[in-house]
Amino acid sequence: MQHQQPPAAPGLLPARAVLLLAAVAAAVLFFARPPPIEQARALAYGPAQIRESRLKPGAAAQPRPVRAAFVVLARNSELHALRASIRQLEDQFNARHHYPYVFLNNEPFSDEFKQAMEWATTGDCHFGLVPYDHWSVPPWVDRIRAMRARVAMAATVPYGGSESYRKMFESGFFYRHPLLDDFDYYWRVEPGVEFTCRIPYDPFQYMADNSKLYGFAISLREFPATVRSLWSVTNAFRAAYPEHVSANNTLRWLMTPAGDYNMCHFWSNFEIAALAFFRSPQYRAYFDFLDRAGGFFLERWGDAPVHTLAAAMFLDKSQVHYFGDIGYHHPPFQNCPTDPDYNGRYCFCNSNR
Ligand code: GDP
Ligand code: MN
Repeated sequence: MQHQQPPAAPGLLPARAVLLLAAVAAAVLFFARPPPIEQARALAYGPAQIRESRLKPGAAAQPRPVRAAFVVLARNSELHALRASIRQLEDQFNARHHYPYVFLNNEPFSDEFKQAMEWATTGDCHFGLVPYDHWSVPPWVDRIRAMRARVAMAATVPYGGSESYRKMFESGFFYRHPLLDDFDYYWRVEPGVEFTCRIPYDPFQYMADNSKLYGFAISLREFPATVRSLWSVTNAFRAAYPEHVSANNTLRWLMTPAGDYNMCHFWSNFEIAALAFFRSPQYRAYFDFLDRAGGFFLERWGDAPVHTLAAAMFLDKSQVHYFGDIGYHHPPFQNCPTDPDYNGRYCFCNSNR
């Protein structure tokens, strides 16, 4: 007598389905759930973490005309690339001025990093942690949609898949860090950049003496895919806050004949600026407006076009300065003075490149 195969145990298939569902739910929760905020806050605001200063007794004695600092956002792993950049900056400029440095990181700096920076610099070094609120996805952003946007852009757009790139610290928060409270001007420095000419004058003083609020060395065109709605959101901001827009603004430089954004922007990895520009009610209203619109996460708005559009709206043309005489290289682009006499005397960059 032939026995029939026993039928599949009832409930086996549903059990599999339940497992699958549980896995999907766990994945959704993992991506949608914010990190434990209390824990992160405690880390960010712990007394030893938020600031540590290594002072250079000689630097304090040096008279400096303006309250200014270099500001560096960097990871511990970038120590060597940053050390090389700072050695050049010191040789070309700061060894004669001893301006201080503010180093910021979303994780505590290692002792090795702090020691290396102390040795590489001739100004006071201040090390700070970025507060958790300044390095997180705001609660009104749909995290699932944001994740989808990252996946969609990952293959086609530089940093398209990166969440940390979208943390918009450089767009909205660096100027609020307490370590910058003592300063009126800042110079942004990144790991791996080169300063290829001697700087025979003080750019900070130049800014102050000439009422400049924003200085740049390189301008470029943005990847359109990263700023699809930035221009229309900016136009909505202008309509909502006409009182914030300067009468002598330079917006037309950023427009195509049809009135769209032409993608031009100052490359903000180099920036010498008055912190008053960023701290102004106009800039803050603009950042808050953009932040609410969600495009930092749902697209990939960079701090470069955001700073540029703000400078174009809020400043007079005379308040923006091109530092054409500062030799600066952030791969793959450089600013290299083309005057053969100036280049020959002060620089080591090839102006034909
Ligand atoms: P790119 O210039 O647009 O190619 O971007 P970078 O990789 O140079 O990053 C811009 C700046 O932000 C650099 O100063 C980096 O050191 C810094 N940065 C980027 N991501 C992180 C991060 O996750 N943590 C920290 N502490 N710094 C970061
Ligand atoms: Mn960079």
